[in-house]
Amino acid sequence: MQVIHANQALTPQGWHRDVEVTIGASGRIESVGPVARTPTQRTALLLPAPLNLHSHSFQRAMAGLTEAKGPDPRDSFWSWRRLMYKFLDQLTPDDVEAIAALVFMEMLEAGYGAVAEFHYLHHGLGGVPYDTISEMSERIVAASETAGIGLTLLPVLYQYGGCDLRPLNGGQQRFGNDVDRFLRLYEGAADAVAQSAADAKIGVAPHSLRAVNPEGLRAVVEHATAGPIHMHLAEQVAEVAEVLAHFGARPTEWLLDQHAVDARWCLIHCTQMTDDETLALARSGAVAGLCPITESNLGDGIFNGTAFLGAGGISGSAPTPTCIFRSSTNSRHWNIRNACAICPGPPWPRPTDQRAGCFLTPPSPAVRKQATETAAGSKPGPLPI
Ligand SMILES: [Zn+2]
Repeated sequence: MQVIHANQALTPQGWHRDVEVTIGASGRIESVGPVARTPTQRTALLLPAPLNLHSHSFQRAMAGLTEAKGPDPRDSFWSWRRLMYKFLDQLTPDDVEAIAALVFMEMLEAGYGAVAEFHYLHHGLGGVPYDTISEMSERIVAASETAGIGLTLLPVLYQYGGCDLRPLNGGQQRFGNDVDRFLRLYEGAADAVAQSAADAKIGVAPHSLRAVNPEGLRAVVEHATAGPIHMHLAEQVAEVAEVLAHFGARPTEWLLDQHAVDARWCLIHCTQMTDDETLALARSGAVAGLCPITESNLGDGIFNGTAFLGAGGISGSAPTPTCIFRSSTNSRHWNIRNACAICPGPPWPRPTDQRAGCFLTPPSPAVRKQATETAAGSKPGPLPI
């Protein structure tokens, strides 16, 4: 048993002096209380490790391919997504497990203790299911065990290529399920989590109102009652316009009207919200999941943190689901660079015109060549250092 004495520690009851934490052979905390035993370790300050609330771990392996200004000045979230689809066509289950283990280890090194994995890469090339429908989910659980990170596994329901219910094509086919097949996949993932020796739990993630129809959303919310519900909400202007055209309401407005949104919900990218939506979401008790580096890098826009937090809203953050940085320091830096309302400061340049990478320097010729080749479908080689 490890016995840690801290001069000061932040506990669920607030800050305390002279705190003893004991850790058992399993690596789990067994007790937190006043000092009583001979310590095996002393420290001045002890804090709970933060949670990374939004990760798409496979995207770690494309870090560097899109974090630079592209040849087309109109590059945006949507051009980034096209390259991502090309990239993921090359990934096998072994690749996905290895990449996830790497990025989970890097999260631990950066100080995170747990991760919520928004996991949507389910099938083989062309959308052909693996013999075990939950193969990829099981690989994510295995990676969390290898790294030793706490995991909330969030299998993603992804049905359509847009609100008009267009079929999935290209790289998207590896994400796709109808509700029945998804619920089988979810049960397999839940079994893998239940059998894991790691600190793991299950949740569910209807991808977004673009990718899930109202019936699919209701089915997973009602079926998967064991844990949190994560969903992309309102990241892009074009996304809001698409939802408005098909649902007759903006994403936040529609969701709050149609579902009993509460603390069980974590809504990712609450970027494109009206003032009324911001206040209503704050009052719902849902967590606003912020990804300041991604939202800055992709030119999404700025979350109205001042109004949301002022209305009692609860927010959390991820360093970046695209895994280009994993440091909470970097995340704060990008909050400032993005002039996010959570970190009011000088009038830094704001990427409010929906252009991605507009404040970055041009890439080297080698990085530009690799990004072009990946977009064309060829296997990328190692990145130049
Ligand atoms: Zn995401």
